[in-house]
Amino acid sequence: KQTIRLDKMLGNLGYGTRSVIKQWIKQGAVAVNGRTVKDHGLQIRPLEDEVALNGEIIRYRDTVYVLLHKPAGVVSATEDFRDRTVIDLLGEDVKVLSPFPVGRLDKDTEGLLLLTNDGKLSHELLSPRKHVPKTYRALVAGAVGVEDVEAFGRGVELDDGYVTMPAQLHVLASAPADGQPQAEKPEAAAELLAAMNSAAQAGKANEQDTLCWIELTIHEGKFHQVKRMFEAVGKKVLYLRRVSMGPLLLDPALAPGEWRELTEDEVDSLR
Ligand code: URA
Repeated sequence: KQTIRLDKMLGNLGYGTRSVIKQWIKQGAVAVNGRTVKDHGLQIRPLEDEVALNGEIIRYRDTVYVLLHKPAGVVSATEDFRDRTVIDLLGEDVKVLSPFPVGRLDKDTEGLLLLTNDGKLSHELLSPRKHVPKTYRALVAGAVGVEDVEAFGRGVELDDGYVTMPAQLHVLASAPADGQPQAEKPEAAAELLAAMNSAAQAGKANEQDTLCWIELTIHEGKFHQVKRMFEAVGKKVLYLRRVSMGPLLLDPALAPGEWRELTEDEVDSLR
């Protein structure tokens, strides 16, 4: 049976430093299976023993995996002097486990962000050698054409001289400056209109240009990569949303700002 020291369990859960926790235990604040315990080194079976701190029962876990639909306007960091962070959006019960974002989305980018306290998994997902695919949908100012699809398929040279790995670009819908949106699927036309609204709200409306709603899959993660790839072909990203990362998909049930923990299957799929 797997056991863990009482003070380590409370420490892992983020209730305080080991020394603070030892103090609490000494003072009688902790009960195991209904009895006050004074031995901070007591071995606990986390799934069977009932641990209570000041009378409140504590559910044990040491890892946390959160799927957040990041809204625009918050930064992908654990702390920031000026801005709200993605951590501020989470509930106390998961915050206590100190999750951090796996990679970053720009402040104005929305969509799928994984947060975890599993450093090993985070490291693997971000490893440049793993080429974990990330798929984005974007509203782009300018007519995205077959030459862009081909250029992205070969790799484009960014402003710093880096040449991107082959990426898959699809145009889902387009709208000429003075005309109706055209799309193969009606959902894409609706998404394009919604993205136009989001861009307009963010002060990024563009009335001169054709607008395109695209999907792009990249297999690396350079700084501002999607925006810089479009800059490399003379176009501007007005709105950006990540829809998948490896096997993880943005849950359509989550509105921007909402989150849920990953299912066990989702966690397994990442390993
Ligand atoms: N590429 C970008 O330009 N911004 C993001 O937030 C993510 C990918």
